[in-house]
Amino acid sequence: MKLRAYQNELVEQVRQAWRAGYKAPCIVLPCGGGKSCIVAEMARRTTFNGKRVLFLVHRRELVEQIKKTFIRWGVDMKLCEVGMVQTITRRLKKLARPALIITDENHHSLAQSYKRIYEYFSDVPRVGVTATPVRLNGDGLGDVNDKLIVGVSAKWLIDNNCLAPYDYYAPDVADLTGLHVSHGEYMAAEIEKAMVKNTVFGDVIKYYKQLANGKKAVCYCASVRHSQRTADVFNENGIKAAHIDGSTPKAERDRIISAFRRGDITVLCNVDLISEGFDVPDCECAILLRPTKSLTLYIQQAMRCMRYRPDKRAVIIDHVGNYARFGMPDDDRQWSLEKKPKAQHKKQEQSDKVKQCPECFYTFSAPPAGVKICCPHCGYEFPTAERKLETDSSVGLVKVEGFKLDFSSPADCHTYPELLQYAKSHGYKSGWAYYQARQRGLIG
Ligand SMILES: [Zn+2]
Repeated sequence: MKLRAYQNELVEQVRQAWRAGYKAPCIVLPCGGGKSCIVAEMARRTTFNGKRVLFLVHRRELVEQIKKTFIRWGVDMKLCEVGMVQTITRRLKKLARPALIITDENHHSLAQSYKRIYEYFSDVPRVGVTATPVRLNGDGLGDVNDKLIVGVSAKWLIDNNCLAPYDYYAPDVADLTGLHVSHGEYMAAEIEKAMVKNTVFGDVIKYYKQLANGKKAVCYCASVRHSQRTADVFNENGIKAAHIDGSTPKAERDRIISAFRRGDITVLCNVDLISEGFDVPDCECAILLRPTKSLTLYIQQAMRCMRYRPDKRAVIIDHVGNYARFGMPDDDRQWSLEKKPKAQHKKQEQSDKVKQCPECFYTFSAPPAGVKICCPHCGYEFPTAERKLETDSSVGLVKVEGFKLDFSSPADCHTYPELLQYAKSHGYKSGWAYYQARQRGLIG
């Protein structure tokens, strides 16, 4: 097995960082970028040279998964210890000294148990991997890492067919005002109540049928009861669904997951399987029903459905407005090791960057300022806000001029090529033009 070019590049950058005197770099790569292959390759090279590796995971369920990957990748498991952090902390004195410590899901590593391991082996080089190098409270990882090595972006992975492009809808956002936060997260019981009160259940079915009918979907719920109820409602509406959670007996869980893989179950409802370390099966649709304060959780849940079929569009249905807190899942983000990287400033930016169509709930990154905004899905034209014309800005003028040459709204386009040109000049995917043309009967 071989790494892709950008993955090799990351391994090389880690080596250079060590050589330059950094002790604990952290690789940042989006979900679907192949983090496990990269760490497997680093473990393989280390054990190939007869040196020991210590690999830290945060959930017991991950140990077997990782071991399987490592064996497939050719890691010499006699020299590689894969262990849950808590277990390793207790066994420190019995452990042979590693030449490399790898930390999976590096954003968890603030916990005391991680720090004890790092301090015990304080002169051993480390490397971490994560898609989101931030703590729940938004702090960077500067207390455990000394360098961030940022790989390709989610957009790059989509453009290079490693991840599926996606359509994002946010219909009927439940009213979340008045929800309390505990340990940095909304309280599940309150979300559950809000969900029932807002009668979101009926909408979940309606919009699934409208936007993703028949697609394998994973539903992320607020609580076990909420998840069970959601599965029931799907079943009552003739869509085969099942619920699983951390306490579902293993045999039952395996049965449900293989039924989902086969397609005998279409919708899988769960609370937090991803962060509990289970291998959530691939799907083409994510239904977000749990408002979260965690960027990590949001990205994990939203992007999972982009990994299954890079050749097909994935659908994300966000009923709880997570996009409004975090922006689009594949937004380019500025990561930092600092404690709180300009959180306030960022929040303001997010709400400006994302637009939602009032007609069809399609949710998308706003085009650059000055460009007329139309829904890429249904063509709805957003009313132009009263804007101060920056007459003294030549850049602004150029933009407007360039725009005049173009069609000023999709309604001005009367042929498929015109729509394609419109799409191109507005930064829309050509799929948008195709959809428009189909809807208007311009193409067969
Ligand atoms: Zn629309």
